Amino acid sequence: MTKPAGASDFIRDIVERDNAERTYAGRVQTRFPPEPNGYLHIGHAKAIIQDFETALAFGGVCNVRFDDTNPDTEETEYVEAIIDDIEWLGYHPDNVFYASDYFEELYNWAVDLVHRGLAYVDEQDAETISAQRGGFGKPGIESPYRDRPVAESLEVFARMRAGELDEGAACLRAKIDMQNDNMWLRDPVLYRIRHGHHHRTHDAWTIYPTYDWAHGQSDAIEGVTHSLCTLEFDVHRPLYDWCLDQLPLPGDRPKQIEFARLEFTHIVTSKRRLKKLVEDGVVDGWDDARMPTLQGLKRRGYPASAIRTFCTEIGTARTNSRHAIEALEAIVRRELNQTAQRRMAVLKPLKLVLTNWPTDEAGQPVVEHFEVTNNPENPDDGTRTVAFSGELVIEADDFAEVPPPKFFRLSPGKEVRLRGAYLVTATDVVKDTDGTIVQVNATYDPATRGGDAPDGRKVKSTMHWVSLAHSVPLTAALYDRLFTAEVPGAATGEPLDDLNPNSRELLEGALGEAALGETAPGQVVQFERLGYFAKDADVDGLYHRTVGLKDEWAAIQKRQGN
Ligand code: ATP
Ligand code: MG
Repeated sequence: MTKPAGASDFIRDIVERDNAERTYAGRVQTRFPPEPNGYLHIGHAKAIIQDFETALAFGGVCNVRFDDTNPDTEETEYVEAIIDDIEWLGYHPDNVFYASDYFEELYNWAVDLVHRGLAYVDEQDAETISAQRGGFGKPGIESPYRDRPVAESLEVFARMRAGELDEGAACLRAKIDMQNDNMWLRDPVLYRIRHGHHHRTHDAWTIYPTYDWAHGQSDAIEGVTHSLCTLEFDVHRPLYDWCLDQLPLPGDRPKQIEFARLEFTHIVTSKRRLKKLVEDGVVDGWDDARMPTLQGLKRRGYPASAIRTFCTEIGTARTNSRHAIEALEAIVRRELNQTAQRRMAVLKPLKLVLTNWPTDEAGQPVVEHFEVTNNPENPDDGTRTVAFSGELVIEADDFAEVPPPKFFRLSPGKEVRLRGAYLVTATDVVKDTDGTIVQVNATYDPATRGGDAPDGRKVKSTMHWVSLAHSVPLTAALYDRLFTAEVPGAATGEPLDDLNPNSRELLEGALGEAALGETAPGQVVQFERLGYFAKDADVDGLYHRTVGLKDEWAAIQKRQGN
């Protein structure tokens, strides 16, 4: 179950202790360190919120640092999108830094390591180095280059930097301990050769520091106090500390703290796999409304505040777990229920003609106007006028010529309420030559204006409707899970095997009430009885169903006896 607000956060406890002990003289500084090789996803949101909220809670500083140490995969496009997404989530970085700004310093420190006999240039290929690493209970094998003279390493390292060597021809390795139980301490690679073009340093460098050499050093340069990252980095921590040990530290020594990744059912949060969905054309792009990217969720109509609420409510743990996506949807729904104005739209229209509807002196059908509240949850949201006349559309599913058992909506001889308007009774249908029903005829009871009968008679159904002459055309996109399996890839190891081929249904002939012509791009409204829908930011008239109205999370919890 989702924990109450203010759920435990062991990281705050650590910061509090550091403050009490004056470890950093009361200073708190965190950073969010994305690699600009893709768009941010919902998992990153957890890290962003953790980094910023920790700093905010203690009056500290939170920066963004791009971990741009691999020219082959990184692009300016991603840098810009990441900044936008962080701002959308509601945070403003105190500074934006780049690991690439420290390349010169990192290089000099590496040269210093070689001088001190703590690093060497290895000229074996990557496969050999990897095989020599050994494994758990399997000893490592020392490289024949490990004890080469310092001068020789320096010379080759300089040639690496000068671009004289091919990719893979050599690398710089720390000289630590080839028998250590922690594989990351078995002479890890600190620099590799890359001839690709870097999005910021362009062609200035042909060698690039690895994550492990760049990360802790960058933290130290910036004055980070608490370096928060996800659990898979806990095995790197001894190396993070080793690298810091070698520095003439300018100030405080940063502390790496790991927390659980945020994962959901039916979702994949791996940039590599999300990128594949885009490249294979499975989705329309990184910002497709089915994508768990922040841009996808935004297009889908998820409020940033709902994501913040969810991440706060689950607290911060040290064990990985997978959250039910329905739990996040429940919070999105809860919030939209408060904020989204109500509208009527008919997704699969069926014409409903009121045969006893009056005409005016000019022979035209009378038009009535009903005043309806925009959001019963929020009286401040006011009212609007909805037009009603003798030609309407209703949802095709709301009519059955031969009603199945327990069908309480419209069928010949049955009376239902048109929401906020009148009680109507179906009389007969009009069919085309194929026998498809194209029109339902009905009579309305003029005494029921507003939707209630003066004699108190009850009807079992209230249905939404749109006056045909006052309607605006819409396209509604309905979504199902992008991955059918709860844990994508659980069966085969490949999440993409569990792709749902029918994750989107586009309804192009939908009709909405006139007020929907005024919806702002990105605005979310509730289509009565159908769910919350976000107006697309780019395509006019397109609405994405954000979530349905039914609280599936409550149902799941009930089944589980919570
Ligand atoms: P991916 O594996 O999808 O490529 P990544 O971890 O390599 O993601 P980075 O850009 O390096 O992506 O991540 C930036 C920060 O976001 C890191 O500190 C990382 O720990 C954190 N992060 C990434 N994924 C998640 C997640 N699912 N939950 C929480 N934090 C995450
Ligand atoms: Mg990473």
